[in-house]
Formats: sequence, C-alpha cells, structure tokens
Amino acid sequence: MGSGKVTSSEPLDWQGKHVTVAGLGVSGLPAAKVLHARGAVVTVVNDGDDPRAREQAAELEALGVTVRLGDGATLPEGTELVVTAPGWKPDKPLFEAARAAGVEIWGDVELAWRLRGPDAAPWLAITGTNGKTTTTQMLASILKAAGLRTAAVGNIGTSVLDAVLGEERYDVLAVELSSYQLHWAPSVRAHSAAVLNLAPDHLDWHGSMDAYARDKGRVYEGNRVACVYNTADKATEDLVREADVEEGCRAVGFTLGAPGPSQLGVVEGILVDRAFVEDRHKNAQELAEISDVNPPVPHNIANALAAAALARAFGVPARAVRDGLRDFTPDAHRIAHVADVDSVAYVDDSKATNTHAAEASLAAYESIVWIAGGLAKGATFDELVAKSAKRLRGAVLIGQDRALIREALARHAPEVPVVDLDRTDTGAMLAAVQEASRLAVAGDTVLLAPACASMDMFANYNKRGDAFAEAVRELGS
Ligand code: ADP
Repeated sequence: MGSGKVTSSEPLDWQGKHVTVAGLGVSGLPAAKVLHARGAVVTVVNDGDDPRAREQAAELEALGVTVRLGDGATLPEGTELVVTAPGWKPDKPLFEAARAAGVEIWGDVELAWRLRGPDAAPWLAITGTNGKTTTTQMLASILKAAGLRTAAVGNIGTSVLDAVLGEERYDVLAVELSSYQLHWAPSVRAHSAAVLNLAPDHLDWHGSMDAYARDKGRVYEGNRVACVYNTADKATEDLVREADVEEGCRAVGFTLGAPGPSQLGVVEGILVDRAFVEDRHKNAQELAEISDVNPPVPHNIANALAAAALARAFGVPARAVRDGLRDFTPDAHRIAHVADVDSVAYVDDSKATNTHAAEASLAAYESIVWIAGGLAKGATFDELVAKSAKRLRGAVLIGQDRALIREALARHAPEVPVVDLDRTDTGAMLAAVQEASRLAVAGDTVLLAPACASMDMFANYNKRGDAFAEAVRELGS
C-alpha cells in the first residue's frame, strides 16, 4: 500500500493487509473492527493500559485482533498502513517511524472516506475555530426541511465512519471536521465546504498558527461547487485562494452586512442570498428573517449564513432554509438563556472555552456581568478584554488561571468592578452567581462565557454550565 497508489474511487482489497490502528477509544475500536471484518491483519497500539482500555482490548482480542496496551510508540513490524485516532499528535515516534518507512497515515475520517461505497452521499463539510457544531446542526436541519435524507456527523454524535458504513441511506451528509481530523484526511473531497473563522487554538498540537490554518484549509481541497468563507475573517478567504478546487467551483462569502455579488448577508433584518440566484449582479433572494435564527445574536447569524450557503450550494430552496433555521434548537450550554431574575437575564455559554468564542458571546449583549476563568490553556486575555471593556458592568472571576484575566481587566478596563473568587469547592459557582447578581442592575445580562476550559473545577463544560443553571435557579427561588 505505497503512498499514492490508492485512490478514493478504487475499492481496496484489505485481505491480508497489515494495518496498525493507533489508539483505542471512540474511533479506534470501530476502525479496528471494520478493518478486521474486511480481512486486514489488524494490530491496535494504545498508550494507556487502564481498565477501560483492557475491556476494549478483550473485545477485540476475542475477534482475533492483536492489541498492545501501554505501547503506543513503536510501529509494529510489517505495518502497511496506520489508522490513527485524530487526537494523536503528528510528532509521535510511531508516526515518524511510519513516515520513514513510507507508510501512509490515515485518520478516522480518511478511513471513512476510503471505505464509503460507490454511490455514497456527498459531503458538505464545516470547520473553523468556533461554531462548527452549531452550524453543522443548522445545516442538517435545513437539508431535512428540504426533504433530503441527511445527518449531522463527524466531530459530533455520530462518527463519519458509522454514517458511511451504517444501514441508513443518505442523500447528503453535514460533516463537522476538527483541525485534527483534517490533518489526517488527505484525500477527502467535499462537495462544498465552509471555514467559519480562524483564531489561534490547539497550537501545541499543530506546532504553529500556519500549520493549524493549513490543516483547516484542507477542507476546501477538491471542492466541486462552493468554498464558503467569512468576509470578516480574511484568513478564511486566503485559504480559499490557496485551495486547489475543481474547475467551476466558486468562492462564496458570508457577511453580517449587505452582501455583494457571490455573497450571503443581511439586509434590514433579512438573510439574503446573492450567490445562488440568477444574475447575481442584479438579484437577491430572501432566505429568512434574523428572528428565525436561534439565538439571533451576531455570531450565530453568521453561522446561519454559512449553513445557508452550503445548503444553497447543494440546491436547497430558500423556503427550506427558513424552515430549517426555525426548526433548529442549539445544543445545551451555547448561549442558553437560563432565566430572568429581577429583570436580569442569566445566560449560559459554558461552551465558550476559548477567548475567540467568549469575544463573540460578549459582543452579543450590551451590558454584562461576566463570569469567566478556568484553565487558560496558554491564552492571553488582553485583546478580549480590550474589545469587550465598554460592555462590562462587572466581572466575577473563578478558577485556576483567573489572575490572567484580572490583570488584563486591570490593564484595559480598570474602572470595571471585579470579584476574584478564590475557591474551587462545589459551592463556588453559586457564590459566583450571587456575586454577579449583586453587581447586575435591571436590564443587564449575567453571562457565563469563561474563555477557559473547565477541568480545573468541573468534569467538563457541561457540568460547569449545569452548575451555573442550578445556581441561577437557587437565586430565583
Ligand atoms: P465548536 O463545535 O466549533 O466548538 P459550537 O457550535 O459548539 O462550536 O460553539 C462553541 C462556542 O463558540 C459557543 O458557545 C459560542 O460561544 C462560540 N461560537 C459559536 N459560533 C461562533 C462564531 N461563529 N464565532 C465565534 N464564536 C462562536
């Protein structure tokens, strides 16, 4: 299986192929099973040797798959292909050995792409630093409203592998792809794709901002109909320019302002399309009203426009865009309005785990008491605080790296009152919400948009959001 010999249209003969699956878990287990079922000689290597890994290993060994626990570094003798879990860092010794031996490395998405059948559904792909899940779900909702058989898959709920290999037949798939998945997916070719935005994230994994952007940009490679970019984020447009696409594929921008030709945008509260209409220099098609977007805050309207652009690229009628947006409810902890208490709105955006997401969140409200903090993951907060300062009534800081935010507030918003909560016990979120309620006045929004990861105090961002909602309920009772 030398590099370049296998093309996506060519059915592979897996019989007797020596495949190493790197990493058990969500993607490794199904990958090992399907490859084994197709006749490959599969060896799974895994760094960890914990009870969960042992359980999965036992399941695979019962099928006849070799599993090496506690040794994810060495490449098994005779390996002809490596299939890796997307999160494994490219500089691992296992990969260096594979590259040195001329062995290809595929991620779970690449594997799905190569295993899909000849009449497989085309992919509409979405990536970006923030908004991927929401936009992918919006897109699936729009496609469904158009009567198409579809699902939101990828870095959400159903894996691409399950979608591709399952019983269900699809007309088109809405595929969320992370930068890791794209890194390991060299031959995936979407019908159309969108990069929503680009801000520094996961740089320790990719090595540099350039490498991160390059991996995101892979989503445009070989697109057939449209490369959708964000006019407010030049880096996304640059990626379109650099992409090698099919003849006739168009660059389509989305903007929160009035759209130019070949763009989707907003005119007087209406989402309009000037890309997928006859004579786009003169015509525009109304798609939906801002109030059809849930919630109708700026970054989410941008998400809706990106989803609409991909749906329109696939030929979906305007009415389905409106119906699909109306049918859509966002996942929990993404700008979720929890309650109003004493005329103050309490909003849970626990999913705002980085500064770029928190910036979008803060831009959505006029007067905010901001609850922030947690694990900064190497981020700096100056830009975020400087841009948001005028909207801040006050701030309540929690978590391990809160001093970084406090210092940024002192530099860029010295007049904003700050409560620094030096506690990490289970009652800490209640205390934070109580402090926030003291700072807020009628008409304000208390916004949990931590700009940080949650793991210093909570199991995950869901638990952090739940604790916030619980605290708000106590406040109101
Ligand atoms: P992802 O799947 O990329 O993590 P989500 O749809 O789960 O994205 O949204 C995560 C968070 O990112 C949201 O809670 C919100 O704070 C923020 N967000 C959503 N859409 C955007 C956007 N278009 N631009 C910036 N931030 C966004």
